[in-house]
Amino acid sequence: MKLPKSLHERVTPTPAMLRYWWRALNAAAFRGALPQPHFAVLDDDLGCKAWFETAPYSNPGEGQIGFSKETITRRALLGTMLHEMVHQYQAMSGRPLVHGRFFRVVCRRLGRRVGVQVCES
Ligand SMILES: [Zn+2]
Repeated sequence: MKLPKSLHERVTPTPAMLRYWWRALNAAAFRGALPQPHFAVLDDDLGCKAWFETAPYSNPGEGQIGFSKETITRRALLGTMLHEMVHQYQAMSGRPLVHGRFFRVVCRRLGRRVGVQVCES
């Protein structure tokens, strides 16, 4: 995957920006295997930067990836997106959405593959 030169640049997430980087990461890290989720950016003070939520009655791995509308570096955006995508992968594989050993191993492997540090907790 071609990483942007300005990883330290600060950006405010938008749904279009999330969709763009999700597609790039899905191709680079998952060989396009993940189903595209909905993307949301919320104003609220969520107490967390991002989340993945499965949608009831949908295929495993579908759902929503949301970010709080908080200005972060592009590096943080990519690392956080990959984190949420590993949760999508867990949902697809019928695994619990936790930060256990499986999660950490996949985060490290995929992070190395695409050159992004994945936040593991
Ligand atoms: Zn998580």
